[in-house]
Amino acid sequence: MFASAIIANKRDSQSLSREEIEFMIDGFVSEAVPDYQMSAWAMAVLCRGMNKREIADLTECMLNSGIRLQRASERPRVDKHSTGGLGDKTSLILTPLLACYDLDVPMLSGRGLGITGGTLDKLEALDGYRCDLNAAEIDQQLKTIGCVITGTTPEITPADRKLYSLRDVTGTVPSIALITASIMSKKLAESLDALVLDVKFGSGAFMRSREDAENLAESLVDAGTRMHVPTQAILSDMNQPLGRMVGNACEVNESLDVLRGHGPADTRELTLQLCVPLLVATGKFTSNEDALASLIKMLDSGAALRRFQQMVEHQSGKFVDKLPLSDESIFESPVSGRLTQFDGQRIGQAVIELGGGRRKLSDQVDHQVGLEMLVRLGDSVSCGQPLIRIFARSTATRTAAEQLLQSALTIEK
Ligand code: URA
Repeated sequence: MFASAIIANKRDSQSLSREEIEFMIDGFVSEAVPDYQMSAWAMAVLCRGMNKREIADLTECMLNSGIRLQRASERPRVDKHSTGGLGDKTSLILTPLLACYDLDVPMLSGRGLGITGGTLDKLEALDGYRCDLNAAEIDQQLKTIGCVITGTTPEITPADRKLYSLRDVTGTVPSIALITASIMSKKLAESLDALVLDVKFGSGAFMRSREDAENLAESLVDAGTRMHVPTQAILSDMNQPLGRMVGNACEVNESLDVLRGHGPADTRELTLQLCVPLLVATGKFTSNEDALASLIKMLDSGAALRRFQQMVEHQSGKFVDKLPLSDESIFESPVSGRLTQFDGQRIGQAVIELGGGRRKLSDQVDHQVGLEMLVRLGDSVSCGQPLIRIFARSTATRTAAEQLLQSALTIEK
């Protein structure tokens, strides 16, 4: 029987057994199940969906396809995952901040593809920063400074790496079941005691509607909970970029501002909001209010900035107070009125045109280009007022970005 018929032959009321899911995942990794069979299976999962038990089994089978990080110390171990959005730089602030509480934060992160940036690309804006630590190096760094942000190692969830590439070319990325198993298998491989998820919705997010984001959040939390890792999700609005900066070095600079106790209020608040449940889940505080009050003091003390510097230097990066950016120019408002909408897709595309993002995974990223948003939703703007500062490498890329920005902001008279 074709492997994909395992699912296609099921009647509506029937679900896949653990053994059937294991057969597909193990067979795919060992190449007993060829790509065309797996593609058909992934499409069947996309069309039929999976129940929560099936999703948890799929997550665990994918997790078991590789290794889990060892526990490097007695300290509780926590992490955050974000579903990605424009200007989302919270990982750069949250990771060292949580490490200041005697927690280990082994953040295995990814690169940007399409309109949303990747944490690793941002950190690689710092000269020499290594994102290819192996499991032993991750353990060692956790023991020494309690935090690391690096790429997933080849031994972690090989099933996800293989399946994700196939989903990318077969139109099966948007399945909630497959997204859940993909995200959670990688996070659970970090051997966590608590996990927080930032599930974004809006024009600059993977999930455009709040309802879709809620469904994804519920599925992710359920999978984590079934795997005995206390997991909470926060829904956050991505109808405008987070903070002012979008782009790699731009976002590192803005994160450094937040780590110095300044920076945009939305970035600071979301980061703190994501830290709170982790401090409570690990018993560091008994109430959200106490955790938040302490986090504000910790951030403002500069301790997290020092920890960030240690992390960068441990990973062979050159810490600087501020990264240089490309030549700047101003994009002005063509009309007067009220800013009612950002088109996140167009803003993300403009960053790609500048060279700051990727169309395909093999593309090189230009770290010094990007955008600075000078206005927020709801602002009144006048004709000729600066709306966006553009950091561009060449006139051609600046012009291409400007063309997209013309239609990226809705200003109503
Ligand atoms: N991010 C992942 O890691 N996997 C998905 O399937 C989607 C987003």
